Amino acid sequence: MWRRVNPLSPWISSFKSSIVKQQVSKSKIWETFTTGIPLQEEGGTLSECRTPFITFVLGGPGSGKGTQCEKIVETFGFKHLSAGDLLRREIVSHSQYGSMILNTIREGRIVPSEVTIKLIQREIEASDNDKILIDGFPRTEENRIAFEQIIGTEPDVVLFFDCPEEEMVKRVLSRNQGRIDDNIDTMKKRLKVFTALCLPVIDYYADKGKLHKIRAVGTVDEVFEQVRPIFTPYEESEQLISLGE
Ligand code: UDP
Ligand code: MG
Repeated sequence: MWRRVNPLSPWISSFKSSIVKQQVSKSKIWETFTTGIPLQEEGGTLSECRTPFITFVLGGPGSGKGTQCEKIVETFGFKHLSAGDLLRREIVSHSQYGSMILNTIREGRIVPSEVTIKLIQREIEASDNDKILIDGFPRTEENRIAFEQIIGTEPDVVLFFDCPEEEMVKRVLSRNQGRIDDNIDTMKKRLKVFTALCLPVIDYYADKGKLHKIRAVGTVDEVFEQVRPIFTPYEESEQLISLGE
């Protein structure tokens, strides 16, 4: 398993999450972040023994997050969780929140944090992979804070696929995946939401020194060559650990 270490100054950060857990009581979380949609309480923070290596993958609509995640999975063996795909799965399975999610996505708005986080949490808990890629989340500061408090941990790495707007519009309008939000009107709204709400999240992680900004133009392989060196040091430190060095 990849340790949650900084490759340059190795230290195991697993106790970090238990400090956060002690500081934030669960009832406080629910008071602060309930947006009128009650969810059955289950789980809470990740179990004490789980401290997966978490990567957030951010970028505007059509910036190539999903495509690059496939390459990261192939190369480094992560479990890929696309927040958008998890939400779309709820729509087709006609779950409790399906119609609310459908309307929210159609308008390019953001689904309440607790709903998205619950879906992500279930997937993390169900997976035995300790390298998790969370694609397209958090999209707002509120999403970010809610994740940190409910899940009880922060990401180890944050990727930002930086792509010019005209390129993102071109890709989304030509990708033909049958998505209800891949049309020019919703796309304009999604871009506005991205600039207003997601850029502050990106700035937050830049200030924390966790952000890796990738120039998301060029071929898939060209973009991936900027991604690869971000994870290679972790892979190398894992190899050293398994050699007992
Ligand atoms: N969405 C959301 N919260 C999330 C992720 C997605 O509300 O954490 C909604 C939002 O309406 C967004 C849509 O799902 O516009 C599609 O998201 P996805 O990540 O699939 O699209 P992308 O931006 O990657 O094209
Ligand atoms: Mg996507």
